[in-house]
Amino acid sequence: MSSSADRAVNSGIVNGGISYWFADDGLPPVREPLTGDAHADVVIVGGGYTGLWTAYYLKKTAPFLRITVLEQKFCGYGASGRNGGWLYNGVAGRDRYAKLHGHEAAVRLQQAMNDTVDEVIRAAAEEGIEADVHKGGVLEVARTPAQLARLRAFHEQELVFGEKDRELYGARATAERVRVADAVGSAWTPHGARLNPAKLVKGLAAAVEALGVTIHEATPVTEIRPQHAVTPYGTVRAPYVLRCTEGFTASLKGQKRTWLPMNSSMIATEPLTDEQWAAIGWNGRETLGDMAHAYMYAQRTADGRIALGGRGVPYRFGSRTDNDGRTQPETVAALRDLLVAFFPALAGVRVEHAWSGVLGVPRDWCATVTLDRSTGLGWAGGYVGSGVATANLAARTLTDLVQVDSGQGGPTPLTALPWAGHKVRRWEPEPLRWLGVQGMYATYRTADRRETLTHSARSSRLARVADRVAGRG
Ligand SMILES: Cc1cc2nc3c(=O)[nH]c(=O)nc-3n(C[C@H](O)[C@H](O)[C@H](O)COP(=O)(O)OP(=O)(O)OC[C@H]3O[C@@H](n4cnc5c(N)ncnc54)[C@H](O)[C@@H]3O)c2cc1C
Repeated sequence: MSSSADRAVNSGIVNGGISYWFADDGLPPVREPLTGDAHADVVIVGGGYTGLWTAYYLKKTAPFLRITVLEQKFCGYGASGRNGGWLYNGVAGRDRYAKLHGHEAAVRLQQAMNDTVDEVIRAAAEEGIEADVHKGGVLEVARTPAQLARLRAFHEQELVFGEKDRELYGARATAERVRVADAVGSAWTPHGARLNPAKLVKGLAAAVEALGVTIHEATPVTEIRPQHAVTPYGTVRAPYVLRCTEGFTASLKGQKRTWLPMNSSMIATEPLTDEQWAAIGWNGRETLGDMAHAYMYAQRTADGRIALGGRGVPYRFGSRTDNDGRTQPETVAALRDLLVAFFPALAGVRVEHAWSGVLGVPRDWCATVTLDRSTGLGWAGGYVGSGVATANLAARTLTDLVQVDSGQGGPTPLTALPWAGHKVRRWEPEPLRWLGVQGMYATYRTADRRETLTHSARSSRLARVADRVAGRG
């Protein structure tokens, strides 16, 4: 795979190679592919957090189950091995679920997400997975008056959904945590931790295998139908077939318009010096984000770098996905500019690695977990940008749904969460899909620029229009 670790000759930045996390910790040897037809009790398509946590909890709950995971490349090849390492309590679609199912149902979903942050930390510790976890919470900064107004509204909203232990800071208190240029305020919640995503997914695959789950890698599934997962090397038959393919879902037969593959790109700096860290602060190692419409996310890594991500080129025509994580040079430049805008003291710092990945976006921007009892087909995903913790909650929910369906247990608090069984319409065909997403992100960027220039405390109307057109509002 190292041949795909493309080197940008002029800058010396490694671009692609899946992600910095794999470059740092090493790509794993690829497990044996499927070598003919097979049978299982549950077949799981996709070896990311969703598929692996599902295998994990199913096997823990019912050790007698024969479970097979089919992964097209290797476990962690997708977003689970490339993300920003924000293990946090955000879940895509909570506010819509409140409208559809009532406030109390959405509070239960939020509470389950808060608990999930701790569940991931607990389970990883129990399995001896060393993933550089640091629970410093999530800090989101505002850098314009409009961002500050959104931050305050967001903070109030989180209190309404039952968070009691979050805090709101002014400019000075923000600087005491992390010195972000132009920061006028921030909000902090304890429900978040930084981690190394590739270490988590590698450790999880090993733990699942040790429990007796069969993992076949280099095995792409070309079609899923009831009781069948079809690959070029054979078909695995099972009463339950669970699709855990997130941003890659569009490549499966019949799923082209189910979830839109949205890109997100990241950069990692060289390790910063003690002087540079002293200038920045960030001793609490909170995951760090902002309130821009085209938002950024960052973490202080265990080896003393900053890993920072943002949207870049959001969507490739025809739902194409990336090439082993390679991202566009203009995206790398834009992320670098953002890093220096946040931390001017880092103007001379070297960016060592850049990469991208895809996440799954449903038409209504709501994460879902479903088991169709008439076919035995299940799926979970559409997490948008919040899947590190959400995948774990989805996996435990899928486990309970399978248990209920197979008569091994009754409904549980998880199967009663409002996102279970949620249905969503499909995306528009091309070119409307491409035009819509390009237009939305161009509008967000214009709105961010306007808010910075005008210093108005009102959120740009443009962004509200883009939200409505995209189905987010
Ligand atoms: C750059 C980036 C940064 C992010 N940052 C954060 C963050 O900081 N915090 C957060 O909460 N979320 C973040 N996310 C989102 C989060 O990483 C994902 O939501 C989460 O990893 C999804 O896990 P998954 O297992 O559902 O999907 P994936 O990890 O994408 O796994 C799907 C797997 O299925 C395999 N697959 C696909 N199709 C097939 C097929 N046909 N046959 C066999 N196998 C197949 C793929 O190879 C892949 O390994 C980020 C995403 C990206 C791309």
